[in-house]
Amino acid sequence: MNGDLQLKTTSLFQKDKKKDVINFYMPTQVIMGEDCVLKQGQVIKYLGAKAMIVTGTGSAKKNGSEEDVTKLLDSLQIDYIIYDKITSNPSVSSVYEGAKAARKEKVDFIIAIGGGSPMDAGKAIALLTVQDIKEEELFAKEYKTGALPIVCIPTTAGTGAEVTSNAVLTNDRARTKMSIKGPGLFPAIALLDAGYMQDLPLNITINTAIDVISHAIEGMLSIKASALTDTLAKSSISNIKECFPSLLSGRLALQEREKLLYGSMLAGMVIAHTGTTAVHSMGYLLTYFKGIDHGRANGLLLPSYLRFVKEKDRELVEKILDTFDYGSIDELDLMFTTLLGEKEPISEEEADKFSEIAVKSKNVLNCTAAPDQEEIKQLYLSALING
Ligand code: FE
Repeated sequence: MNGDLQLKTTSLFQKDKKKDVINFYMPTQVIMGEDCVLKQGQVIKYLGAKAMIVTGTGSAKKNGSEEDVTKLLDSLQIDYIIYDKITSNPSVSSVYEGAKAARKEKVDFIIAIGGGSPMDAGKAIALLTVQDIKEEELFAKEYKTGALPIVCIPTTAGTGAEVTSNAVLTNDRARTKMSIKGPGLFPAIALLDAGYMQDLPLNITINTAIDVISHAIEGMLSIKASALTDTLAKSSISNIKECFPSLLSGRLALQEREKLLYGSMLAGMVIAHTGTTAVHSMGYLLTYFKGIDHGRANGLLLPSYLRFVKEKDRELVEKILDTFDYGSIDELDLMFTTLLGEKEPISEEEADKFSEIAVKSKNVLNCTAAPDQEEIKQLYLSALING
């Protein structure tokens, strides 16, 4: 009897992976709900007397998030300045410039409003305001402490940056996007209101949703995955999957926007612990050299990468497909192809160049099935249109 029971019991700990412990650290206070900035945002009053709002050039003004934040700050009598020069895939120079302004104005904390780019830039500015870091050393080490407190208000549902301890910037020296990271970059507070996303264009909604799925799947593929991160990843996938019909029809109600935002936050908690894998490393090159949107780039690569991993670890890929209720990678591929439309071409020369850079990324080694340079090249060629 005892023997039978033991046979049926599986361990929480995945002994085949490097991490056979659960070690979960998530210091961000997450507040989610309709109008939560105005209704619950008073928690920011403990962060200081002067804020810098970091945002992009337009969307925070259009969707009402910036207005809500300035109303909140006025009501709390917190002084603020606005730094609204953040573009997509923020450059290193833009965050150094932001930090210079934050120092000059003696701000106490950062409020980043927007998609991944303003949130990542806000985190980097929070770090560079406090610490003197040479540009060439920015990506070289971990930052355990030493950043201004950060408040994140996402206005897309994709990056999960509101609950992660890294910031992705465009590193022209390495000719790709790279992360600065460390526990010091966890936001203090995340305020999540899906209402800001109601007018988000469909293509951005789809691309960011695919990024969420990519985070959840890559988290499950990671050698750092644990029972806890897998639980979050599966829940993230379930929430995003429920929105597939609406993403296909192009009509999203507020409740679907909430599911996308919630799923994004869960997947953010996953990658804060697992990191991403070769998919993100490879995707960054498609963004840097070909201008393909980040989430779309990951979505184009994911089915090919899953086929590659399946050759080495069938069970792991089947566990992921089960989460979607898919019987095969082809089913997932068909859904992605329907959502993403026609694929971009890639030449042999591009695949050579991208694979040479991507193979150097640490994230490639994050999965037990780590592709070498030639395998990365073949993955590019099979994922996009060879020509
Ligand atoms: Fe991503």
